[in-house]
Amino acid sequence: MALLKIARMGHPVLLAKARAVEDPTAPGIRTLVADMIETMHDAAGAGLAAPQVHVPLRLFVYSVPAQRSAGADDPPRTVAALINPVITPIGEEIAIQTEGCLSIPGLRGAVPRAARVRYEGVDEHGQAVSGEASGFLAVVLQHENDHLDGILYPMRMTDLGQMGFETEYLRFGPGGQAGGQAGGQAGGQAGGQDSPRESGQAEEHA
Ligand SMILES: [Zn+2]
Repeated sequence: MALLKIARMGHPVLLAKARAVEDPTAPGIRTLVADMIETMHDAAGAGLAAPQVHVPLRLFVYSVPAQRSAGADDPPRTVAALINPVITPIGEEIAIQTEGCLSIPGLRGAVPRAARVRYEGVDEHGQAVSGEASGFLAVVLQHENDHLDGILYPMRMTDLGQMGFETEYLRFGPGGQAGGQAGGQAGGQAGGQDSPRESGQAEEHA
């Protein structure tokens, strides 16, 4: 087990398209997953993608912290790995939620995402993984999957006025409003109201 160095925004590895994992059960992949989980926990993150630790492969680890669980459809989850993932939106509904990123430390932004997604892939034991996700799980899966395609969350934002430093975000809410504004602007239902409270948690960085 080892802590890995996390690439920060501006490093080209974060803008590259990662390649498929040829053998998800290879010992090197299992070691990488274990090291990524250790690194994620050390950095108080909720997810981490391989390109964030300078490994351009299509895999990430993800979790749903208890304080981010959106209820019965989005239960808390301990960390797990998804290798060669395919994430597919279900329906047209968009939800806006506050996101952070371990590669963009100190900042937060309100990001529109598909409210529901289907996910498929395999874990590090070669077992097929699939399901439907909403709430925080849908967010973290889309955030991490984007890392595999060289996309960082600010590139998904439609209003950069909804980005700020954590301290200010916690104090003033998205875009300096008292919360709720981000959720209303694009018809999302999961957005701004909760953000000032939730943004106080360190664990949403992914
Ligand atoms: Zn990230």
